[in-house]
Amino acid sequence: MRNVTVLAGGVGGARFTRGLLAHLATAAPDAAVTVIVNTGDDMWLDGLRICPDLDTVMYTLGGGINEEQGWGRPEETRRASSEITAYGRGWSWFTLGDLDLATHIVRTDLLRSGSTLSEATEFLCRRWQPGVRLLPMSDQPVETYVCLDENIDEHAAGDYIHFEEWWVRYRARVAVTRFEQRGLANAVAAPGVLDAIQTADLIVLPPSNPVVSIGTILAVPGVRDALRSTRALVAGVSPIIGGAAVRGMADACLHTIGVDTSALAVGLHYGARSQGGLLDAWLVDETDAAALPALTAAGIRSAAAPLWMTDLPATTAMAAAVLAL
Ligand code: GDP
Ligand code: CA
Repeated sequence: MRNVTVLAGGVGGARFTRGLLAHLATAAPDAAVTVIVNTGDDMWLDGLRICPDLDTVMYTLGGGINEEQGWGRPEETRRASSEITAYGRGWSWFTLGDLDLATHIVRTDLLRSGSTLSEATEFLCRRWQPGVRLLPMSDQPVETYVCLDENIDEHAAGDYIHFEEWWVRYRARVAVTRFEQRGLANAVAAPGVLDAIQTADLIVLPPSNPVVSIGTILAVPGVRDALRSTRALVAGVSPIIGGAAVRGMADACLHTIGVDTSALAVGLHYGARSQGGLLDAWLVDETDAAALPALTAAGIRSAAAPLWMTDLPATTAMAAAVLAL
């Protein structure tokens, strides 16, 4: 096992990768890990480029994450953002902590001086040393918007709002009819992304949101084809346990695209690679073991193991279970 590539969103992808690194440190010390991160949640706020999933992975693996929240920095203050609010600017529902702001300022400065997002990410990682090669899925901006199914505040049914507004401001409790990834038509996979898929020995879809995290990466031109044709084994870990999203509101996303909130339905949604889908193997929680025969029948090698990422030992054991598949 030399090259492992992970397709990640924010919290679920970051925590799993931390366990994967801990497992590989003893099981395969020479292995190199590349993490391809969703950038569909990115946005401009107060003149700054915010990349929520890239930052969550970078801070988590670099030891700078707020563990309770799963995003942002620990011991944050909000002095700058309350000043911005005093001017009547910014979004009161989106937190920009003072320490975190420094990351956005440095990234935006790099982007404005002509660096690509890949280059800016590499620069930020020189400080955080995440222990992986961290790649944005694309250097071109791709932003996920949702189409509202009802009127809410200043928005009317049929309006599109940024995914982060739906997720953070409305906690995904407002019905939406579809997701739209704006910018996708002009996007290409960032340098190294397709290569990291084609030359990997193992590709892992961690327990990230199947719709707006992994689904968005898969929509980048070339990514799905690269996954279908790679010689690597493609193994996924269910983000759904016992019919519920473990944390967050992934069920609202699955509902919107017509997929049941179950480990089986998500596995079948990705599909077996032998049947034109993406997965060779799918790991479900032990409480979802009843799904194993249906997964096997669909051509997906599967197993059940504890999938709660409660602490590093539990997450390390999860990564070991994936490699055992
Ligand atoms: P986000 O970008 O921060 O929303 O994070 P991701 O897309 O990486 O992953 C979010 C998803 O990870 C959640 O919706 C959950 O379904 C899943 N998840 C979070 N914690 C756990 C856990 O401990 N175990 C499992 N199996 N899934 C988890
Ligand atoms: Ca995210």
